[in-house]
Amino acid sequence: MEANPARTRRRWLRRLIFIAVVGATLTASHFWGRHVDPPPRWLDADRVAVLTGASELPEQVGGNAGYWRIKRGEETLYAAESAALAADVQGYGGPFDLLIVVDEAGDFDRLLMVRHNETPSYVTGAPAFLASFVGLSPTAPLEPGTDVDALTRATVTSEAFAAAARLTGRKILRAALGREVELEEEREPWDWPWAAVAAAFFGVAVWARRRPPEVLRIVVAAAAVGVLGFWAGRFLSIGDVGRLVMAKFPPFGPRLSLYVLFGGATVIALVFGNVYCGWVCPFGAVAELLHKVPFRKLTVAPAFARKLSNLRFILLAVVVAAMVARWDLGAASYEPFDDLFAYAAAGLSLLFLVAVLAVSAFHYRFFCRYLCAVGALWGEVAAVGRQPRLPPCEDCRECAQVCPTGAVVENREVVDRALCIECGRCGRVCEAERKRLAA
Ligand code: SF4
Ligand code: SF4
Repeated sequence: MEANPARTRRRWLRRLIFIAVVGATLTASHFWGRHVDPPPRWLDADRVAVLTGASELPEQVGGNAGYWRIKRGEETLYAAESAALAADVQGYGGPFDLLIVVDEAGDFDRLLMVRHNETPSYVTGAPAFLASFVGLSPTAPLEPGTDVDALTRATVTSEAFAAAARLTGRKILRAALGREVELEEEREPWDWPWAAVAAAFFGVAVWARRRPPEVLRIVVAAAAVGVLGFWAGRFLSIGDVGRLVMAKFPPFGPRLSLYVLFGGATVIALVFGNVYCGWVCPFGAVAELLHKVPFRKLTVAPAFARKLSNLRFILLAVVVAAMVARWDLGAASYEPFDDLFAYAAAGLSLLFLVAVLAVSAFHYRFFCRYLCAVGALWGEVAAVGRQPRLPPCEDCRECAQVCPTGAVVENREVVDRALCIECGRCGRVCEAERKRLAA
């Protein structure tokens, strides 16, 4: 089929608008960030006094890289910020700061979270987790889940907080109490295994997406739910987009799988289409599998559904704007991903999760179609990316009948790429595609 000049013009206009919006967002966030987040912000004596319950103004010994000497009644306590004494230890979302307080016996008196870039739902249990260190010595192993509690489904954050507590606590013991303690290096290993697993999902998708048997789609979806979702907790969230916009980059090696997911989703969307949503995202996979439950299905007119799906772009703009304006990732918690895979749902978020999952049994990928900001973003990346080369259309319109997302506007050559998730159903029924593969 010859290129349609009007469609080509529209595509280039869409590309220009996309680049302009991304550029304007990053520029605005850069200037706003410098305004709201001047680095670094160390605690002053008044704040340390309030946090530790001091009876007089604490005295700082050795500057920020030293420690605070604190009087609380008859007791003397020693405190320091992990961001100063354990700066190399980073959480899932990058740098964080704990105020570590040690008593005269050399045991933890309290640990307080001062600031962090973690996904909000990962740290809702942080006060109880940090309380489990109280009374223990920084020289103990402090393994989450063994010696101390662990944050539910947030292994990386739990281990990072424990590593920061160990290193900061031991440095306080040496500097303030003159103890001879070993300072082990607290470095996280590279995240190779999960990065390889994420890459394998993309590889299978790119290889199979044109005409995949349904059984392969079911197997990959089940694997995405079990492995990437419940086991590894590796998936993309709008919070990851917020981190990019706010330049709060997580450490590269220990979060390699996140970079593979983000980079893979973007590059593959530009070249092949939105493969992430169709094959990799575990929440999309849950919805895909639920839709196979044999209930009567809701039918929404494709043109109306396409209009309604623009709601995703409104959500994307609102959530990113809210994250930048408040300079934190809290707005990302509207997503039900952690609620499901990190068992973090409670109250209203639990109701929302149950409703979304229930509707998914009747309506194909309900959340993905109308509410997911992440899906909107990678759909748009696909829409401004390379257009696929397809065999000449025979105009049977079978593809429009089977497309579950309403992406086929006319035939396989006129597809709304922002809605297509590369599920390959249209390829399976396409006679021209069958002939191409047989040739
Ligand atoms: S639209 Fe959202 S929930 Fe659905 S598959 Fe894509 S990223 Fe996952
Ligand atoms: S056009 Fe529809 S059927 Fe074809 S790959 Fe995209 S979402 Fe699947």
